[in-house]
Amino acid sequence: MRTLDEIETVGVVGAGTMGSGIAQVAATAGYDVVMRDVKSEFVQQGFDSIEDSLSRFVRKEQLTQEEADAARERITGTTDLDDLADADYVVEAAVEKLDVKRDIFADLDEAVPDDVVLATNTSTLSITTIASVTDRPELVVGLHFMNPAPVMKGLELVVGEKTADEVVDLSHALAEDMGKETWESDDKPGFVVNRILMPWLNEGVRAYDQGVASKEDIDTGMKLGTNVPMGPLELCDHIGLDIVLDASQTLHDELGDRYKPAYLLKRKVDAGDLGKKTGRGFYEYD
Ligand code: NAD
Repeated sequence: MRTLDEIETVGVVGAGTMGSGIAQVAATAGYDVVMRDVKSEFVQQGFDSIEDSLSRFVRKEQLTQEEADAARERITGTTDLDDLADADYVVEAAVEKLDVKRDIFADLDEAVPDDVVLATNTSTLSITTIASVTDRPELVVGLHFMNPAPVMKGLELVVGEKTADEVVDLSHALAEDMGKETWESDDKPGFVVNRILMPWLNEGVRAYDQGVASKEDIDTGMKLGTNVPMGPLELCDHIGLDIVLDASQTLHDELGDRYKPAYLLKRKVDAGDLGKKTGRGFYEYD
């Protein structure tokens, strides 16, 4: 396994909400980054989000223009998985579907040198199951960034059945080097955060669907009533309704009825209203 000092290049699989955010975090911390998605237009959208986000950091004087430009320069985009062969640590952040992640990990196992850690940003899926398609299950770990990755300080480290202690230590150290604070979870469905968050989000959607209050009053009530920064409907839009649905479905399959996805959530996903990323979810966006 490579040590922290030997990590120069971070590979990121997926250039969506999380992949682009993770690429930005790594590049801002001084790592070279190779960011891969399946189509060049998705890679370009990833770069657009990174540029927007870096500009916000400059406007808020949290980065200088030179630091933002240098971070952007460190990121290379690609659609070719083989370009990750030079990575010293890989983080996968593709869609929350087990079959997709298993295919990606089988391909990564072929493409990436066998002493490189393969991490997944999965919200709910089993690290052990994902690791089982590789010949290096001891080098597979959950590195669960929160959204938006460049802003959120916390990072959940998920330890699979076979994850080696050195990989856990290295991943804590890498996260810290990227300016994050970590906590550990065992490889149980939803880990700490989503096991508790998903029922809360679904209950917010059900309360709205059942006419308890307007969406604005549900969000305001939870913000003012419990001191959280976003209400459940706003947070669904921010996360992506498809991600909330897939995560809820996994938890429902594993943990039973109290995790049943809200009916309105499914209907909105079927309609393509996925939240901020499509311009419309429970609310509308520019
Ligand atoms: P997203 O839909 O914004 O992006 C997913 C990206 O993966 C898309 O660009 C898609 O084209 C790409 N992709 C699909 N198959 C691929 C493949 N084979 N190779 C490379 N790229 C591929 O989703 P997201 O919100 O960024 O979520 C990504 C992962 O992060 C999921 O596992 C999700 O559960 C997790 N996560 C999401 C959040 C959140 O709030 N959105 C928070 C923490 C973790």
